[in-house]
Amino acid sequence: MVPYNRQQGDDGVTHARCTWDGGICGITLDDLTPSGVIRHLKAFHFNNPLNAWENKKRGVCRWGHDCSGCEMNYESLGKHIASVHLRSTARPCTVCGRQFARTDTLSRHQLENCPGA
Ligand SMILES: [Zn+2]
Ligand SMILES: [Zn+2]
Ligand SMILES: [Zn+2]
Repeated sequence: MVPYNRQQGDDGVTHARCTWDGGICGITLDDLTPSGVIRHLKAFHFNNPLNAWENKKRGVCRWGHDCSGCEMNYESLGKHIASVHLRSTARPCTVCGRQFARTDTLSRHQLENCPGA
Protein backbone atom coordinates (compact mmCIF):
# COMPACT_ATOMS: atom_id res chain seq x y z
CA MET A 1 0.00 0.00 0.00
CA VAL A 2 1.35 3.38 -0.96
CA PRO A 3 -0.79 6.00 0.73
CA TYR A 4 1.29 8.88 -0.55
CA ASN A 5 4.17 9.44 -2.87
CA ARG A 6 7.50 10.26 -1.44
CA GLN A 7 10.61 11.27 -3.27
CA GLN A 8 13.97 10.72 -1.77
CA GLY A 9 16.44 13.56 -2.07
CA ASP A 10 20.05 13.70 -1.05
CA ASP A 11 19.13 14.78 2.42
CA GLY A 12 16.03 12.67 2.92
CA VAL A 13 12.43 13.41 2.14
CA THR A 14 11.92 16.68 0.33
CA HIS A 15 8.50 16.49 -1.31
CA ALA A 16 5.30 14.66 -0.52
CA ARG A 17 1.88 14.71 -2.05
CA CYS A 18 -0.75 15.94 0.35
CA THR A 19 -3.26 13.19 1.11
CA TRP A 20 -5.46 15.11 3.52
CA ASP A 21 -9.08 14.14 2.77
CA GLY A 22 -7.76 11.80 0.09
CA GLY A 23 -5.60 14.49 -1.48
CA ILE A 24 -8.45 16.66 -2.75
CA CYS A 25 -6.14 19.68 -2.94
CA GLY A 26 -3.79 17.94 -5.40
CA ILE A 27 -0.85 19.81 -3.92
CA THR A 28 2.67 18.49 -3.52
CA LEU A 29 4.20 19.87 -0.36
CA ASP A 30 7.74 21.12 -0.63
CA ASP A 31 7.97 22.12 3.01
CA LEU A 32 7.57 19.02 5.13
CA THR A 33 8.34 20.66 8.43
CA PRO A 34 5.54 20.81 11.01
CA SER A 35 5.07 24.52 10.35
CA GLY A 36 5.04 23.96 6.60
CA VAL A 37 2.35 21.31 6.98
CA ILE A 38 0.24 23.59 9.15
CA ARG A 39 0.64 26.44 6.67
CA HIS A 40 -0.67 24.14 3.94
CA LEU A 41 -3.59 22.86 6.01
CA LYS A 42 -4.62 26.40 6.88
CA ALA A 43 -4.38 27.57 3.29
CA PHE A 44 -6.11 24.65 1.57
CA HIS A 45 -8.12 22.66 4.08
CA PHE A 46 -9.17 25.09 6.78
CA ASN A 47 -9.81 28.09 4.57
CA ASN A 48 -13.56 27.97 5.03
CA PRO A 49 -15.06 30.18 7.77
CA LEU A 50 -17.27 27.25 8.77
CA ASN A 51 -14.19 25.11 9.23
CA ALA A 52 -11.70 27.66 10.49
CA TRP A 53 -8.37 26.71 11.96
CA GLU A 54 -8.03 27.05 15.72
CA ASN A 55 -4.88 25.89 17.42
CA LYS A 56 -6.76 24.57 20.44
CA LYS A 57 -9.61 22.95 18.57
CA ARG A 58 -9.50 19.17 18.62
CA GLY A 59 -9.93 17.21 15.46
CA VAL A 60 -9.10 13.95 13.80
CA CYS A 61 -6.19 13.59 11.46
CA ARG A 62 -7.51 12.99 7.95
CA TRP A 63 -4.16 12.40 6.31
CA GLY A 64 -4.16 9.40 4.00
CA HIS A 65 -5.83 6.14 4.90
CA ASP A 66 -3.29 4.77 7.31
CA CYS A 67 -3.92 6.97 10.29
CA SER A 68 -5.46 5.51 13.40
CA GLY A 69 -7.94 8.38 13.52
CA CYS A 70 -6.08 9.95 16.37
CA GLU A 71 -7.74 13.03 17.78
CA MET A 72 -5.52 15.93 18.73
CA ASN A 73 -5.28 19.68 18.89
CA TYR A 74 -4.99 21.25 15.48
CA GLU A 75 -1.68 22.76 16.49
CA SER A 76 -0.34 19.22 17.02
CA LEU A 77 -1.34 18.09 13.55
CA GLY A 78 1.72 19.59 11.87
CA LYS A 79 4.13 17.70 14.07
CA HIS A 80 2.01 14.54 13.88
CA ILE A 81 1.82 14.58 10.09
CA ALA A 82 5.49 15.48 9.68
CA SER A 83 6.69 12.70 11.95
CA VAL A 84 4.07 9.94 11.46
CA HIS A 85 3.03 10.34 7.85
CA LEU A 86 5.91 12.15 6.14
CA ARG A 87 8.69 11.00 8.43
CA SER A 88 10.32 14.32 7.63
CA THR A 89 11.67 14.49 11.14
CA ALA A 90 13.58 11.23 10.61
CA ARG A 91 17.28 11.44 11.28
CA PRO A 92 19.62 9.04 9.54
CA CYS A 93 22.40 7.43 11.52
CA THR A 94 25.59 8.92 10.10
CA VAL A 95 27.36 5.58 10.57
CA CYS A 96 24.98 2.93 9.21
CA GLY A 97 22.30 5.03 7.51
CA ARG A 98 19.32 3.64 9.40
CA GLN A 99 16.52 6.18 9.88
CA PHE A 100 15.19 7.16 13.25
CA ALA A 101 12.15 9.27 13.84
CA ARG A 102 13.50 10.80 17.00
CA THR A 103 16.90 12.08 17.91
CA ASP A 104 16.81 10.29 21.26
CA THR A 105 16.24 6.87 19.68
CA LEU A 106 19.00 7.69 17.21
CA SER A 107 21.50 8.51 19.93
CA ARG A 108 20.50 5.40 21.88
CA HIS A 109 21.02 3.36 18.70
CA GLN A 110 24.46 4.85 18.19
CA LEU A 111 25.44 4.11 21.77
CA GLU A 112 24.03 0.61 21.98
CA ASN A 113 23.46 -1.22 18.76
CA CYS A 114 24.77 0.54 15.69
CA PRO A 115 26.46 -2.16 13.58
CA GLY A 116 29.03 0.29 12.26
CA ALA A 117 30.11 1.85 15.55
ZN1 LIG B 1 -3.61 19.42 1.00
ZN1 LIG C 1 -2.47 10.98 11.25
ZN1 LIG D 1 23.85 3.22 13.05
